[in-house]
Amino acid sequence: MRLDTRVIIIGGGQAGLATAFYLRRAGLTPGEDFAVLDAGAEPGGSWPHMWEGLRLFSPATYSSLPGWMMPAWDESRLGFPPRTHVVDYLTRYEARYDLHVLRPHRVTSVARADDDPEGPMTVAAGEVTAAARFVVSATGTWDRPFWPAYPGMREFRGRQLHAAQYQAPGELAGRRVVVVGGGNSAAQILAEVSRVAETTWVTVRPPGFLPDDVDGRVLFATARARIRALSEGHEHSGVAGLGDIVMVPSVVDARERGVLEPHPMFTRLTPTGVAWADGTERAADAVIWCTGFRPALRHLTGLRLHGEAGRVEVGGPSGTRVRREPRLYLVGYGDWVGPASATLAGVGPSARDTANDIMARL
Ligand code: FAD
Repeated sequence: MRLDTRVIIIGGGQAGLATAFYLRRAGLTPGEDFAVLDAGAEPGGSWPHMWEGLRLFSPATYSSLPGWMMPAWDESRLGFPPRTHVVDYLTRYEARYDLHVLRPHRVTSVARADDDPEGPMTVAAGEVTAAARFVVSATGTWDRPFWPAYPGMREFRGRQLHAAQYQAPGELAGRRVVVVGGGNSAAQILAEVSRVAETTWVTVRPPGFLPDDVDGRVLFATARARIRALSEGHEHSGVAGLGDIVMVPSVVDARERGVLEPHPMFTRLTPTGVAWADGTERAADAVIWCTGFRPALRHLTGLRLHGEAGRVEVGGPSGTRVRREPRLYLVGYGDWVGPASATLAGVGPSARDTANDIMARL
């Protein structure tokens, strides 16, 4: 299949959908003026792949994309919305705005069609080749889990899995499990695994815990303050507390059961467990690496976008335009492309500014 269009959005998760929403609202016709190519077999971005017990760290009313609020969820009775609520919302969102997401199509490369810096960009995705004036990459981080390297990883005879592979605690019942990582994923996985297994929690730095009455809403308020400060030309310290642990009910419960006790990071794995520099060892059947994700940008490798600092620099009026290839935009990957842009409620402003910049240049 060959597509000729004005804008191609790579990735049909929340960041791609929010960008598509604003392009449509600016007058472009989905499926004609722009196309969304998504590698997933079904809607929802990475949410269908996350572990079963995952819940949002904020209420439904604070988890909305532009245009249409996330449907209500009875928080007082059921806690924050589960991931299935997000999948359902994203599925209905793309249908509601008729965004014509094409799937499954994994983009493997993006290239400049010729030497003309104003010329088209080409996108390859299996049997689909597409050409467009602008490309928005919104591929998230889920496809690139980060595994740190520790001595003994290959010799360890137990099971090692990343948070991206973890599904439900039942698979670890009765085991001795080491949970690695100081963020929200580690705390939430530890909370549920510790109900059925003997757990040890290790972190490189002492983890930060938000007060019990603070949730994701505070992070969004801080993000909004930063957007305001930057637009007024002031500096702002960033999204404070974004890495801190939100005390969702399951994590509070883990604390009350005494299992939310961080230990320093081990220095190596042994064939039968983990060991610290002082010689202490602990037997383990499984290690869960809750060590985060990196931007999934492999499809952009051929464009050679990395600057001297080893990262892709972005800027322009939207803050998402790639400096080394101004026909390309990056939306949703994290604070570095837009404050809180890797969250449901935070991606809107970044998507809007990206769509505005594209419309001004079309
Ligand atoms: P994704 O959801 O990952 O979507 C990217 C899409 O692009 C996917 O469909 C993928 O298949 C596709 N894709 C990837 N590569 C290609 C390619 N080469 N070609 C075509 N398509 C491709 N945020 C909140 O607001 N509240 C929370 O409570 C919250 N909890 C979280 C808990 C966890 C464990 C994690 C990991 C994140 C959480 N987030 C939360 C953060 C954020 O909302 C998610 O990371 C979100 O999925 C990011 O959306 P995205 O659209 O950028 O990426």
